[in-house]
Amino acid sequence: MTVAYLGLGANLGDARQTLKDAVVCLAQQRTITVLAKSSLYRTAPIDAGGDDYFNCVVKLETTLPVRHLLALCHKIEHQFGRERPFRNAPRTLDLDILLYGEQSIDEADLIVPHPRLVERAFALVPLVEIDAAIVIPQHGRAAALLDSVSDQRIEKVKSPCQCPMLDALSGNSADKGRCE
Ligand code: ADP
Ligand code: MG
Repeated sequence: MTVAYLGLGANLGDARQTLKDAVVCLAQQRTITVLAKSSLYRTAPIDAGGDDYFNCVVKLETTLPVRHLLALCHKIEHQFGRERPFRNAPRTLDLDILLYGEQSIDEADLIVPHPRLVERAFALVPLVEIDAAIVIPQHGRAAALLDSVSDQRIEKVKSPCQCPMLDALSGNSADKGRCE
């Protein structure tokens, strides 16, 4: 079993609903146990045009080797209609492996920790929300990196939705009773 963190993002279609559905999809995998889900965040696109993004981070435990987890991420992205017309194109769903245990991987098609994790508020802020003490291999405590991304627009989304399943996954006591 390995603990991994996935970053979810979307800015095409009903992006908020897509992220909720994608978390349920992950939780339904026999090979995955979802341990925590961050709040939902609204964020500015970076190096791209298009609408604002919605982002969240999921902490999970999995029996999948990391490459199988990457393949599953691609399969789920595809199921949610992901297309790649050009780099940084708007997307119905992006599923990135932020961390996989304490492993560092540097291969052509898989880099872990995710290469942009430490530069992006949309990944760092929800990661620290669900695991305040998390350490990023080669970079140290994630919380110590928050200052360096404080110029990036990110706003926690508040919702009255009371979905019991997602609520149970929420690691954020301040938002108990909310699923986003
Ligand atoms: P983005 O980099 O904007 O997320 P894509 O989702 O299209 O763009 O991913 C491009 C490629 O990045 C994927 O085909 C995948 O092989 C590669 N990649 C490298 N490291 C990772 C990672 N940690 N998580 C997800 N994809 C990764
Ligand atoms: Mg991606």
